[in-house]
Amino acid sequence: MSERRIPVMIPMLGEEEAQAAAEAVRSGWVAQGPRVAEFERQFATLAGAGHGVAVSSCTTALHLALVLLEVGPGDEVIVPSLSFIATANAVRYVGATPVFADVDLATGNLTVETVEAVRTPRTRAIIAVHQGGVPFDVVVLRSAAESWGVALVEDAACAAGSTAYGKPVGAGATVAAWSFHPRKVITTGEGGMLTVDDRDWAARLRRLREHGMNVSAADRHASAQPVLEAYLETAYNYRMTDIQAAVGLVQLGRLAGLVAQRRELAARYQELLADIDGLVPVRDPAYGETNYQSFWVLLESFPVGRDAVLAELAAAGVSARRGIMAAHLEPAYAEVTPAPLPVTERLTRDSLILPLHHALTEGDQDHVVGVLRKLASS
Ligand SMILES: *Cc1c(COP(=O)(O)O)cnc(C)c1O
Repeated sequence: MSERRIPVMIPMLGEEEAQAAAEAVRSGWVAQGPRVAEFERQFATLAGAGHGVAVSSCTTALHLALVLLEVGPGDEVIVPSLSFIATANAVRYVGATPVFADVDLATGNLTVETVEAVRTPRTRAIIAVHQGGVPFDVVVLRSAAESWGVALVEDAACAAGSTAYGKPVGAGATVAAWSFHPRKVITTGEGGMLTVDDRDWAARLRRLREHGMNVSAADRHASAQPVLEAYLETAYNYRMTDIQAAVGLVQLGRLAGLVAQRRELAARYQELLADIDGLVPVRDPAYGETNYQSFWVLLESFPVGRDAVLAELAAAGVSARRGIMAAHLEPAYAEVTPAPLPVTERLTRDSLILPLHHALTEGDQDHVVGVLRKLASS
């Protein structure tokens, strides 16, 4: 039994982030301001998109994406049940109905077939998730959505640094929503981003996050002349602070290195796990590369059940997690009777997420795999 506990995730935060946050505080401008604007520009470039609009979280980003698309009561929005619950909740925020679709076993993602199985004339939009950082097939799903005349929102909460067809997953998305929660690869504490290519959409999203104002507080402050703002519609306060953006700017500089390191550690896990029967680790799909935000393992024909595996790992000082949740199994969605979701139910029941972070050592990995190997032969 190891002395130290191995956490499932640790954010990579250094002295540079602490200094950047302190500088933002000392500058006196702590609400949304120049650092947020710079963070948006740099993030959009990294994400392969024309414009970035920073918000308070990915949850609020998803909400604004649906407001932007004018999705509302009477509309159906297809979402994977296999996702963090915020994906489905965003649909309810606008009074629309989430309709759960099943996912592909290997990627955990929606496919044309699983969406087609639940699509109706009332389907207004789809929120497809790049689950745990694994990209969905953007070429196939984007063109299917277009042919159906249905908007495709991309929940890229976990996918900063993931690629599809050689490009960042945000490239070519109609609208993508990102998260900077500490459980993701880069963090601002809390925080989110919307990326779009359309300049008018970016302007509308900026208004929606800031009370519907036609001029931002930062622009008003920068003007020598008094600027009288107008409130064009009922909107929200979903702003990010300049303190968060200061941290985010440092984190952006770390993204490529963190993803490269995660991919190396994931490859080593895959190698070590290869000779353990009944375990299937997540892998890159043929068309892209995951950032391995979540390194999950499916227990396909393992002698020990998932929860018992988690308990054994915990007893050995390893914090693993159950696999990705399924929203339709939660009390909040108890009254929803979805179409059969066999793959979703299998993945959420039989998978677990192993520790993967910048501070994970080869010794830690050997320890984690050693516990699994012992269970496999039990
Ligand atoms: C984490 C996550 C969210 C929510 O992100 P927040 O920034 O915490 O609101 C939404 N969707 C998915 C798929 C996530 O993993």
